[in-house]
Amino acid sequence: MLALWKLTRRPLQWLGLSACLLTLAAEPAQSQDMREVRRTLRYLTSRHLHGRGYTHQGDQRAAAFLAKSFKRLGLLPFDAAATYTQPFPLTVNTFPGRLAFAVDGHKLQPGQDFILAPESGGGRFTAPVVYFDSLALAQDAARQQFLAQPLQTAALVLPQAIYRRVLTQPALAHKLGEARALIALVPDKLTASLASQQITQSRLRVATSAWPTAAKQVTLKLDARLQQNYRTQNVLGYLPGTSRPDSLLVVTAHYDHLGELGRHHYFPGANDNTSGTSMLLQLARYLSQPAHRLRYTVVFIGFSAEEAGLLGSRYFTAHPLFPLDKVRFLLNLDLVGTGDTGATVVNGTLHPLEFQLLQQLNSGPAGVGSINARGKAANSDHFPFSEAGVPAFFLYTRGGIAAYHDVNDKAATLPLTRYAALFQLLSQFLTRLAH
Ligand SMILES: [Zn+2]
Repeated sequence: MLALWKLTRRPLQWLGLSACLLTLAAEPAQSQDMREVRRTLRYLTSRHLHGRGYTHQGDQRAAAFLAKSFKRLGLLPFDAAATYTQPFPLTVNTFPGRLAFAVDGHKLQPGQDFILAPESGGGRFTAPVVYFDSLALAQDAARQQFLAQPLQTAALVLPQAIYRRVLTQPALAHKLGEARALIALVPDKLTASLASQQITQSRLRVATSAWPTAAKQVTLKLDARLQQNYRTQNVLGYLPGTSRPDSLLVVTAHYDHLGELGRHHYFPGANDNTSGTSMLLQLARYLSQPAHRLRYTVVFIGFSAEEAGLLGSRYFTAHPLFPLDKVRFLLNLDLVGTGDTGATVVNGTLHPLEFQLLQQLNSGPAGVGSINARGKAANSDHFPFSEAGVPAFFLYTRGGIAAYHDVNDKAATLPLTRYAALFQLLSQFLTRLAH
């Protein structure tokens, strides 16, 4: 079994004086490696990368970091210009500018108190609050009254659960669309996402606890920008196989996240997915060392635009840079920064032999805890490959934190509970697959 500190490129440089050697011997084997992981997490989640979305060069900076890392590790590029990238276009709604929201003159905090619906339009206005009467869902008189009410200059407020019910009734749903702003009150945590279109209406999701009872008026200043045919990129490189280079193993992780929430807030996306991106880099570093090179070619892909609907992996499978039928196995890593209650493998039930191998390698107290198998799911970048007939696993860890698609998914609070064990497991898994 590999001691993780051996993975560091220049261990002696870090050690400095030889006297430190004694101290090192007493340290846990993975400490130095975890330092590197933490550094990667801190950089990718930093303000400088703006939530790795499509404004202020967020995705570009993350891609540049990955390409540089691939080059430094000695991975080979697929493109002649050695950029390590595969560009593709996407259209996505973004919020890179001004954002201020006040209820009865009281300012609410972006991220903590409210977020924007992904398709929200911008605007600058003060609007009276109109509360949706849920009787309109069931009683004809109340319904007629609501349908007759002018809403063009109003901010319509309703609980999220009621909103979902309104959407099942076309006439009511259509009427909601008239309001200047639509505010859904969310009783549990605020969970953000991305959309590929922008509507005229401003749409907010406000934490129920942050909404003042019987509030009368809201003021919104919001810049929304639809990025049309924005050029983003997948980042990829490979290590040629030593004796069977035509057989491929592929390791993937998306590096993008949800971007910004106005000028001063962003979604750091530490678990989602700097955890997987950093694991991919650790595996690339390990497998690039002469003693660990595999018989098969290993391809590493950092996908962009996963959060926008698996767009990077969909683009790749439509425009593959290697024959997909040569892929022996693909391993996708997304949300691997916890592990308090083990891990789950999507497609685990579809590939029992590989799942069994993973289980075998995971035995003992040094493992990642229980590993569960799931069936097919369109929930990360393995999916377009699975649909194209490529055998693939998507592995994520369970437990630990509740932060997900919100401003609390931070590097500092990501536990990395089973990270070192997972690295051991995955490096062995890939090595065994290439035997
Ligand atoms: Zn996500």
